[in-house]
Amino acid sequence: MAIAIISDIHANLEALEAVFKYIDAYDIDTIYCLGDIVGYGPNPNECVGLIRDRCDAVIMGNHDYAAIGLANIEYFNEYAKMSTYWTIENLSEDNLKYLRGLPFSHQTDKLVFVHSSPSKPSSWYYVLSVQDARIEMQSFEEHICFIGHSHVPVVFTGQNFNRETTQKLQSNRKYIINVGSVGQPRDGNPNTCFTVFDEEKSTVQFVRLEYDIDATYEKIVKAGLPLFLAERLLKGY
Ligand code: ZN
Repeated sequence: MAIAIISDIHANLEALEAVFKYIDAYDIDTIYCLGDIVGYGPNPNECVGLIRDRCDAVIMGNHDYAAIGLANIEYFNEYAKMSTYWTIENLSEDNLKYLRGLPFSHQTDKLVFVHSSPSKPSSWYYVLSVQDARIEMQSFEEHICFIGHSHVPVVFTGQNFNRETTQKLQSNRKYIINVGSVGQPRDGNPNTCFTVFDEEKSTVQFVRLEYDIDATYEKIVKAGLPLFLAERLLKGY
């Protein structure tokens, strides 16, 4: 049984459609979304619509939280602030209502899903180092905690990190796995990113796919969103 975990879509419809096309072509029976469906990108309503239709569980991200007016956006940079105001203006009432109902975490027998960090999912901490991961691991008992938020795909144990595309996991170890970003990768690779976890084989794979970045670029410009938000997609930063 394979699970797809997607995160940080950021209203990038072309990237999200490429991800679902892949998911439909492979043997994936469950899809989880770790939040930040909206913010930065030009298609918030379309992306919320697809996520609502397709995902088995959806978690609140800090940009979703900002779009419903609950996040303190003082700490957002100017691009994030501008795109938050744009998103609030453009989201339908029905989609805003949907975002208001999102939980901060989801759990199964052996897995935990949050947007930012397992210790305080609504405080939007970043897990960026092995040391961060070691501290965060004290807050859950399950085998794996899947996270998003930094937009950089990586597997953390309490001792090290690994960024290889496909990795074999050990069933007696704890992991924190950042699944990468669908709509705004920041690891120097512009291809959309998400994660497939195969529970039987105990493997995790970071899937990278090309998508029509030029189309997203043009939509960002046309929407009057900051040019920087289009430019960064070209290089993945
Ligand atoms: Zn994000």
